[in-house]
Amino acid sequence: MGASDVLSRKTGVIVGDDVRKLFKYCQEKKFAIPAVNMTSSSTVVSALEAARDSKSPLILQVSQGGAAYFAGKGVGNSKQEASIGGAVAAAHYIRSIAPYYNIPVVLHTDHCAKKLLPWLDGMLDADEAYFKLHGEPLFSSHMIDLSEEEKDWNISTTAKYLQRAAPMSQWLEMEIGITGGEEDGVNNEDVDNNSLYTQPEDIYEIYSTLSKISPYFSIAAGFGNVHGVYSPGNVKLHPELLSKHQNYVKEKIETSDPKPVFLVFHGGSGSSKQEFSEAISNGVVKVNLDTDLQYAYLTGIRDYILKNKDYLMTQVGNPEGPGKPNKKFYDPRVWVREGEKTMTTRVKEALQDFDAAGQL
Ligand SMILES: [Zn+2]
Repeated sequence: MGASDVLSRKTGVIVGDDVRKLFKYCQEKKFAIPAVNMTSSSTVVSALEAARDSKSPLILQVSQGGAAYFAGKGVGNSKQEASIGGAVAAAHYIRSIAPYYNIPVVLHTDHCAKKLLPWLDGMLDADEAYFKLHGEPLFSSHMIDLSEEEKDWNISTTAKYLQRAAPMSQWLEMEIGITGGEEDGVNNEDVDNNSLYTQPEDIYEIYSTLSKISPYFSIAAGFGNVHGVYSPGNVKLHPELLSKHQNYVKEKIETSDPKPVFLVFHGGSGSSKQEFSEAISNGVVKVNLDTDLQYAYLTGIRDYILKNKDYLMTQVGNPEGPGKPNKKFYDPRVWVREGEKTMTTRVKEALQDFDAAGQL
Protein backbone atom coordinates (compact mmCIF):
# COMPACT_ATOMS: atom_id res chain seq x y z
CA MET A 1 0.00 0.00 0.00
CA GLY A 2 1.35 3.38 -0.99
CA ALA A 3 0.22 6.82 -2.09
CA SER A 4 -0.17 5.59 -5.69
CA ASP A 5 -2.95 3.26 -4.57
CA VAL A 6 -5.22 6.16 -3.60
CA LEU A 7 -4.70 8.06 -6.86
CA SER A 8 -6.66 7.66 -10.09
CA ARG A 9 -3.70 9.11 -12.06
CA LYS A 10 -0.48 7.65 -10.78
CA THR A 11 2.16 9.44 -12.81
CA GLY A 12 2.52 12.95 -14.16
CA VAL A 13 0.58 16.04 -13.10
CA ILE A 14 -2.38 15.18 -10.89
CA VAL A 15 -5.47 17.35 -10.44
CA GLY A 16 -8.85 17.56 -8.72
CA ASP A 17 -9.77 15.01 -6.08
CA ASP A 18 -6.43 13.21 -6.54
CA VAL A 19 -4.74 16.21 -4.93
CA ARG A 20 -7.04 15.98 -1.90
CA LYS A 21 -6.58 12.22 -1.68
CA LEU A 22 -2.81 12.61 -1.80
CA PHE A 23 -2.82 15.25 0.95
CA LYS A 24 -5.16 13.16 3.10
CA TYR A 25 -2.83 10.22 2.65
CA CYS A 26 0.04 12.48 3.80
CA GLN A 27 -1.87 13.31 6.98
CA GLU A 28 -2.71 9.68 7.67
CA LYS A 29 0.85 8.48 7.13
CA LYS A 30 2.41 11.57 8.72
CA PHE A 31 4.57 12.84 5.93
CA ALA A 32 4.71 16.08 3.94
CA ILE A 33 5.65 16.75 0.35
CA PRO A 34 8.33 19.33 -0.36
CA ALA A 35 7.22 22.07 -2.74
CA VAL A 36 10.24 22.88 -4.85
CA ASN A 37 10.50 26.34 -6.38
CA MET A 38 11.60 25.97 -9.96
CA THR A 39 13.04 28.57 -12.29
CA SER A 40 14.13 26.55 -15.33
CA SER A 41 13.87 23.13 -16.96
CA SER A 42 17.16 22.33 -15.20
CA THR A 43 15.77 22.87 -11.69
CA VAL A 44 12.60 20.99 -12.67
CA VAL A 45 14.48 17.85 -13.73
CA SER A 46 16.73 18.04 -10.64
CA ALA A 47 13.67 17.82 -8.40
CA LEU A 48 11.92 15.17 -10.52
CA GLU A 49 15.02 12.99 -10.44
CA ALA A 50 15.23 13.22 -6.65
CA ALA A 51 11.56 12.29 -6.19
CA ARG A 52 11.78 9.42 -8.70
CA ASP A 53 14.87 7.96 -7.00
CA SER A 54 13.24 8.36 -3.57
CA LYS A 55 9.87 6.90 -4.66
CA SER A 56 8.05 10.01 -3.48
CA PRO A 57 5.34 12.32 -4.78
CA LEU A 58 6.47 15.88 -5.51
CA ILE A 59 5.10 19.41 -5.61
CA LEU A 60 6.65 21.72 -8.20
CA GLN A 61 5.82 25.38 -7.82
CA VAL A 62 6.72 28.57 -9.59
CA SER A 63 6.74 31.99 -7.95
CA GLN A 64 5.77 35.20 -9.73
CA GLY A 65 9.45 36.09 -10.09
CA GLY A 66 10.43 32.54 -11.00
CA ALA A 67 7.73 32.44 -13.67
CA ALA A 68 9.01 35.67 -15.21
CA TYR A 69 12.50 34.16 -15.16
CA PHE A 70 11.12 31.05 -16.88
CA ALA A 71 9.85 33.34 -19.69
CA GLY A 72 13.22 35.10 -19.83
CA LYS A 73 14.47 38.23 -18.08
CA GLY A 74 14.32 40.06 -21.40
CA VAL A 75 10.52 39.89 -21.51
CA GLY A 76 8.65 42.91 -20.09
CA ASN A 77 6.39 42.24 -17.09
CA SER A 78 4.48 45.49 -16.51
CA LYS A 79 1.14 43.69 -16.84
CA GLN A 80 2.45 40.36 -15.44
CA GLU A 81 2.72 39.07 -19.01
CA ALA A 82 6.11 37.40 -18.41
CA SER A 83 4.90 35.85 -15.14
CA ILE A 84 1.72 34.55 -16.77
CA GLY A 85 3.48 33.33 -19.92
CA GLY A 86 6.38 31.82 -17.99
CA ALA A 87 4.11 29.99 -15.55
CA VAL A 88 1.99 28.62 -18.41
CA ALA A 89 5.14 27.51 -20.28
CA ALA A 90 6.49 25.82 -17.15
CA ALA A 91 3.14 24.07 -16.68
CA HIS A 92 3.11 22.68 -20.23
CA TYR A 93 6.74 21.63 -19.92
CA ILE A 94 6.12 19.81 -16.64
CA ARG A 95 2.94 18.19 -17.94
CA SER A 96 4.99 16.83 -20.87
CA ILE A 97 8.04 15.66 -18.97
CA ALA A 98 6.70 14.49 -15.57
CA PRO A 99 5.21 11.18 -16.84
CA TYR A 100 8.74 10.03 -17.78
CA TYR A 101 9.65 10.08 -14.09
CA ASN A 102 6.81 7.79 -13.02
CA ILE A 103 5.72 9.82 -10.02
CA PRO A 104 2.66 11.95 -9.26
CA VAL A 105 3.38 15.69 -9.39
CA VAL A 106 1.27 18.52 -7.99
CA LEU A 107 1.73 21.56 -10.21
CA HIS A 108 1.41 24.66 -8.08
CA THR A 109 2.06 28.40 -8.11
CA ASP A 110 3.56 30.23 -5.15
CA HIS A 111 2.73 33.41 -3.13
CA CYS A 112 0.45 35.82 -4.95
CA ALA A 113 0.07 39.05 -2.98
CA LYS A 114 -2.62 41.69 -3.63
CA LYS A 115 -0.55 43.70 -6.09
CA LEU A 116 0.19 40.52 -8.08
CA LEU A 117 -3.45 39.39 -8.46
CA PRO A 118 -3.38 40.10 -12.25
CA TRP A 119 -0.82 37.28 -12.40
CA LEU A 120 -3.26 34.86 -10.74
CA ASP A 121 -6.12 36.14 -12.94
CA GLY A 122 -4.05 35.42 -16.05
CA MET A 123 -3.20 31.91 -14.91
CA LEU A 124 -6.85 31.21 -14.11
CA ASP A 125 -7.76 32.33 -17.65
CA ALA A 126 -5.27 29.70 -18.91
CA ASP A 127 -6.77 27.12 -16.52
CA GLU A 128 -10.29 27.76 -17.80
CA ALA A 129 -9.16 27.56 -21.43
CA TYR A 130 -7.37 24.27 -20.69
CA PHE A 131 -10.43 23.01 -18.79
CA LYS A 132 -12.65 23.60 -21.84
CA LEU A 133 -10.38 21.39 -23.93
CA HIS A 134 -9.34 18.72 -21.43
CA GLY A 135 -11.86 18.77 -18.58
CA GLU A 136 -9.21 19.72 -16.03
CA PRO A 137 -7.29 22.89 -15.10
CA LEU A 138 -3.75 23.47 -16.41
CA PHE A 139 -2.39 23.84 -12.85
CA SER A 140 -3.25 21.49 -9.99
CA SER A 141 -3.33 24.38 -7.57
CA HIS A 142 -2.50 28.02 -6.91
CA MET A 143 -1.63 30.07 -3.89
CA ILE A 144 -3.19 33.40 -2.97
CA ASP A 145 -1.38 35.32 -0.23
CA LEU A 146 -3.35 38.22 1.21
CA SER A 147 -1.83 37.82 4.67
CA GLU A 148 -0.51 41.41 4.46
CA GLU A 149 -4.06 42.72 4.15
CA GLU A 150 -6.84 43.16 6.66
CA LYS A 151 -8.17 39.74 7.77
CA ASP A 152 -11.79 40.07 6.57
CA TRP A 153 -10.67 41.22 3.15
CA ASN A 154 -8.12 38.41 3.01
CA ILE A 155 -10.79 35.78 3.70
CA SER A 156 -13.53 37.24 1.47
CA THR A 157 -11.18 37.75 -1.47
CA THR A 158 -9.69 34.28 -1.05
CA ALA A 159 -13.28 32.95 -1.05
CA LYS A 160 -13.95 34.71 -4.38
CA TYR A 161 -10.92 33.06 -5.95
CA LEU A 162 -11.93 29.68 -4.55
CA GLN A 163 -15.33 30.19 -6.18
CA ARG A 164 -13.56 30.58 -9.52
CA ALA A 165 -11.34 27.52 -8.93
CA ALA A 166 -14.12 25.27 -7.57
CA PRO A 167 -15.85 24.34 -10.87
CA MET A 168 -12.48 22.99 -12.05
CA SER A 169 -11.91 21.13 -8.75
CA GLN A 170 -8.73 23.15 -8.45
CA TRP A 171 -6.86 23.51 -5.17
CA LEU A 172 -6.22 26.91 -3.54
CA GLU A 173 -3.67 27.56 -0.82
CA MET A 174 -4.07 30.71 1.28
CA GLU A 175 -2.04 32.39 4.00
CA ILE A 176 -3.07 33.94 7.30
CA GLY A 177 -0.89 35.65 9.86
CA ILE A 178 2.49 36.88 8.95
CA THR A 179 5.48 34.89 7.90
CA GLY A 180 8.56 36.96 8.62
CA GLY A 181 11.43 37.67 6.26
CA GLU A 182 11.49 38.78 2.69
CA GLU A 183 10.15 36.98 -0.35
CA ASP A 184 9.24 38.40 -3.72
CA GLY A 185 9.40 41.97 -2.47
CA VAL A 186 7.21 41.53 0.62
CA ASN A 187 9.28 42.49 3.63
CA ASN A 188 8.10 41.63 7.14
CA GLU A 189 11.39 41.73 8.93
CA ASP A 190 10.37 44.24 11.61
CA VAL A 191 6.95 42.89 12.39
CA ASP A 192 6.03 42.54 16.05
CA ASN A 193 6.51 38.96 17.26
CA ASN A 194 2.91 38.32 18.41
CA SER A 195 1.46 38.68 14.92
CA LEU A 196 3.72 35.85 13.76
CA TYR A 197 1.37 33.36 15.43
CA THR A 198 -2.06 32.64 13.92
CA GLN A 199 -4.98 32.06 16.31
CA PRO A 200 -7.28 28.97 16.17
CA GLU A 201 -10.35 31.23 15.82
CA ASP A 202 -8.91 32.63 12.59
CA ILE A 203 -8.29 29.15 11.23
CA TYR A 204 -11.88 28.17 11.98
CA GLU A 205 -13.24 31.33 10.34
CA ILE A 206 -11.28 30.50 7.18
CA TYR A 207 -12.27 26.85 7.31
CA SER A 208 -15.99 27.56 7.73
CA THR A 209 -16.02 30.19 4.96
CA LEU A 210 -14.03 28.22 2.40
CA SER A 211 -15.42 24.74 3.06
CA LYS A 212 -18.89 25.99 2.03
CA ILE A 213 -17.41 26.66 -1.43
CA SER A 214 -15.05 23.74 -2.02
CA PRO A 215 -13.12 21.09 -0.06
CA TYR A 216 -9.98 21.88 -2.05
CA PHE A 217 -8.02 24.38 0.01
CA SER A 218 -5.12 24.57 2.43
CA ILE A 219 -3.92 27.13 4.92
CA ALA A 220 -0.42 28.44 5.54
CA ALA A 221 -0.67 29.57 9.13
CA GLY A 222 2.01 31.56 10.90
CA PHE A 223 3.61 29.73 13.81
CA GLY A 224 6.81 31.73 14.01
CA ASN A 225 8.02 30.87 10.52
CA VAL A 226 10.50 33.06 8.71
CA HIS A 227 11.15 33.23 4.96
CA GLY A 228 14.81 32.98 4.03
CA VAL A 229 17.71 32.04 6.27
CA TYR A 230 18.45 34.03 9.41
CA SER A 231 20.76 33.36 12.30
CA PRO A 232 19.25 30.61 14.48
CA GLY A 233 17.54 31.60 17.70
CA ASN A 234 16.02 34.85 16.45
CA VAL A 235 12.58 33.39 15.93
CA LYS A 236 10.88 30.71 17.96
CA LEU A 237 8.89 28.16 15.98
CA HIS A 238 5.79 26.78 17.68
CA PRO A 239 4.60 23.82 15.57
CA GLU A 240 2.54 22.61 18.55
CA LEU A 241 0.16 25.53 17.86
CA LEU A 242 -0.97 23.68 14.74
CA SER A 243 -2.54 20.89 16.82
CA LYS A 244 -4.61 23.55 18.62
CA HIS A 245 -5.94 24.66 15.23
CA GLN A 246 -6.89 21.10 14.29
CA ASN A 247 -8.57 20.43 17.65
CA TYR A 248 -10.46 23.73 17.59
CA VAL A 249 -11.87 23.10 14.10
CA LYS A 250 -12.56 19.42 14.90
CA GLU A 251 -14.71 20.37 17.91
CA LYS A 252 -16.50 23.17 16.08
CA ILE A 253 -17.53 21.02 13.13
CA GLU A 254 -17.97 17.83 15.18
CA THR A 255 -15.96 15.56 12.95
CA SER A 256 -14.16 12.34 13.83
CA ASP A 257 -11.28 13.41 11.58
CA PRO A 258 -8.44 14.43 13.93
CA LYS A 259 -6.92 16.64 11.20
CA PRO A 260 -9.74 18.39 9.33
CA VAL A 261 -7.46 21.20 8.07
CA PHE A 262 -4.76 20.84 5.41
CA LEU A 263 -1.83 22.94 6.61
CA VAL A 264 1.22 24.27 4.81
CA PHE A 265 4.64 25.12 6.25
CA HIS A 266 6.27 28.24 4.78
CA GLY A 267 9.67 29.59 5.71
CA GLY A 268 11.13 26.26 6.82
CA SER A 269 14.75 26.97 5.86
CA GLY A 270 16.97 26.27 8.82
CA SER A 271 14.28 24.44 10.82
CA SER A 272 15.22 21.24 12.64
CA LYS A 273 14.08 17.76 11.68
CA GLN A 274 12.16 17.67 14.97
CA GLU A 275 10.32 20.90 14.18
CA PHE A 276 9.36 19.53 10.77
CA SER A 277 8.19 16.24 12.31
CA GLU A 278 6.02 17.98 14.87
CA ALA A 279 4.44 20.26 12.25
CA ILE A 280 3.83 17.27 9.96
CA SER A 281 2.24 15.18 12.71
CA ASN A 282 -0.15 18.12 13.22
CA GLY A 283 -1.43 17.99 9.65
CA VAL A 284 1.13 19.86 7.54
CA VAL A 285 1.06 18.27 4.07
CA LYS A 286 3.33 20.65 2.12
CA VAL A 287 6.60 22.27 3.05
CA ASN A 288 8.02 25.03 0.86
CA LEU A 289 11.65 24.57 -0.05
CA ASP A 290 13.45 27.31 -1.90
CA THR A 291 16.35 29.06 -0.19
CA ASP A 292 18.29 25.88 0.66
CA LEU A 293 17.85 24.57 -2.88
CA GLN A 294 19.15 27.77 -4.44
CA TYR A 295 22.31 27.29 -2.44
CA ALA A 296 22.53 23.58 -3.20
CA TYR A 297 22.23 24.26 -6.94
CA LEU A 298 25.04 26.78 -6.74
CA THR A 299 27.47 24.53 -4.86
CA GLY A 300 27.85 21.93 -7.62
CA ILE A 301 28.51 24.61 -10.24
CA ARG A 302 30.78 26.61 -7.93
CA ASP A 303 32.93 23.59 -7.08
CA TYR A 304 33.14 22.54 -10.71
CA ILE A 305 34.28 26.00 -11.84
CA LEU A 306 36.86 26.33 -9.06
CA LYS A 307 38.23 22.84 -9.68
CA ASN A 308 38.45 23.24 -13.46
CA LYS A 309 39.39 26.91 -13.63
CA ASP A 310 42.45 26.28 -15.83
CA TYR A 311 40.29 24.50 -18.39
CA LEU A 312 37.73 27.30 -18.59
CA MET A 313 39.71 30.46 -19.31
CA THR A 314 40.03 29.89 -23.06
CA GLN A 315 38.28 27.68 -25.60
CA VAL A 316 41.58 26.07 -26.53
CA GLY A 317 44.62 25.58 -24.29
CA ASN A 318 44.88 24.14 -20.79
CA PRO A 319 47.59 22.70 -18.45
CA GLU A 320 47.83 19.63 -20.70
CA GLY A 321 48.97 21.70 -23.71
CA PRO A 322 48.42 24.98 -25.55
CA GLY A 323 46.48 23.27 -28.34
CA LYS A 324 44.20 21.16 -26.14
CA PRO A 325 40.47 21.91 -26.63
CA ASN A 326 38.27 22.68 -23.59
CA LYS A 327 34.88 21.97 -25.15
CA LYS A 328 34.08 19.08 -22.87
CA PHE A 329 34.66 21.38 -19.86
CA TYR A 330 32.54 24.38 -20.92
CA ASP A 331 29.59 22.55 -22.46
CA PRO A 332 26.62 23.66 -20.28
CA ARG A 333 25.47 20.05 -20.11
CA VAL A 334 28.61 19.38 -18.08
CA TRP A 335 28.72 22.25 -15.61
CA VAL A 336 24.97 22.90 -15.25
CA ARG A 337 24.62 19.17 -14.60
CA GLU A 338 26.90 19.53 -11.57
CA GLY A 339 24.38 22.00 -10.08
CA GLU A 340 21.56 19.59 -10.87
CA LYS A 341 23.35 16.81 -9.00
CA THR A 342 23.85 18.84 -5.82
CA MET A 343 20.27 20.11 -5.98
CA THR A 344 18.97 16.55 -6.45
CA THR A 345 20.93 15.46 -3.38
CA ARG A 346 19.43 18.28 -1.30
CA VAL A 347 15.86 17.50 -2.47
CA LYS A 348 16.45 13.85 -1.49
CA GLU A 349 17.49 15.01 1.99
CA ALA A 350 14.23 16.96 2.29
CA LEU A 351 12.22 13.94 1.13
CA GLN A 352 13.87 11.98 3.96
CA ASP A 353 13.36 14.78 6.51
CA PHE A 354 9.64 15.04 5.71
CA ASP A 355 9.25 11.22 5.55
CA ALA A 356 8.05 11.41 1.95
CA ALA A 357 10.73 9.02 0.66
CA GLY A 358 9.36 5.54 -0.09
CA GLN A 359 5.71 6.60 0.21
CA LEU A 360 4.65 5.73 -3.35
ZN1 LIG B 1 4.22 32.43 3.00
